[in-house]
Amino acid sequence: MSKSLRGNFKWLVGAVVGVSLLGGCGAPADATDTTPAAGEQTTNGVTATVALAKASLSAREDVTVTVTLTNTSSQPVSLLKWYTPGEGLKEGRLTVTRDGQAVQYIGPHFKRVAPRPEDYVTLAPGESLSGPVAVSGRYDLSETGSYAIRYAQEAHDNVGGVSAFASNEVSVWVEGRSSALESDRVVTAESLSYSGACTTSQQSAISTAVSGALTYSTNAYNYLNTTTPSGTARYTTWFGAYTSSGWSTVKSHYLNIKNAFSSAAIVVDCSCTDSGTYAYVYPGSPYKIYVCGAFWSAPQTGTDSKAGTLVHEMSHFTVVAGTNDYAYGQSAAKSLAKSNPTNARANADNHEYFAENNPAQN
Ligand SMILES: [Zn+2]
Repeated sequence: MSKSLRGNFKWLVGAVVGVSLLGGCGAPADATDTTPAAGEQTTNGVTATVALAKASLSAREDVTVTVTLTNTSSQPVSLLKWYTPGEGLKEGRLTVTRDGQAVQYIGPHFKRVAPRPEDYVTLAPGESLSGPVAVSGRYDLSETGSYAIRYAQEAHDNVGGVSAFASNEVSVWVEGRSSALESDRVVTAESLSYSGACTTSQQSAISTAVSGALTYSTNAYNYLNTTTPSGTARYTTWFGAYTSSGWSTVKSHYLNIKNAFSSAAIVVDCSCTDSGTYAYVYPGSPYKIYVCGAFWSAPQTGTDSKAGTLVHEMSHFTVVAGTNDYAYGQSAAKSLAKSNPTNARANADNHEYFAENNPAQN
């Protein structure tokens, strides 16, 4: 789960050129007569299909599906590259089950920048985008069995305009492989260490950011621990309608986050240079955090800062808070808190923004 500058599920079908989708509450941009083929689903004029080359794969074979997105509307449609094939579909946008049971996603989670024009790809009417998407190495295929795979775009429609987005389902027999689960990788370090050729000045900035993240998470925990639980402005802005169990949940998250920053063996890796990404982690591999291009241009503290990004990333680790990326950016995070407090309490950016508390609220 990375922290990106911008980007969110809701942006998958983001700006629809020439048609105002935003605020349209999921209404298709264009009510075309196009009827999807059986097993396909269309949303906002985009049809998704998943295909497999083989029906059965040995443990030595990589499992890859081909995802195709087709604009079946009469208007151009812009899609976020992050969630489309061709750019590798780096995040878990597939739904994988084995014998009916959900299979764990073991790939990375990112924090991305807000989508920039170059982060979109536009499909003309009738145009398709197709490419391979890795399943092995991203999902836990350690058990032999019948796996079912779909491309699924969840509806995190807190800005309006995008609805759920799913493909047909394909089935494949997969021989269990000694899964290279990221969680099996042993990270050893003392306190804070570096990998991926961090320069001296980068190490210095990281060290300051870790201190800042400890301060942020400690302050967040102390706020939740000493304030009488209620629907305070700060709490409801980021975590939605007050409930005592919700308050307890996020308090426990910040307890784990601050404890990790104060005493865990954190490794920060500098090898990623993507300017559209702040950072990412493998949730099963505490406490290794990969920082990317956008991290270096972020301020040390404040909104979408280096320190805040580290809070975001730390919250992703399964042993810490196990958060997801349902929404990126302050605006989307606030909307998520209003529309779905449960997901807000499980969303990494909401934890970051509550901790950054900028502008300050009580
Ligand atoms: Zn993330």
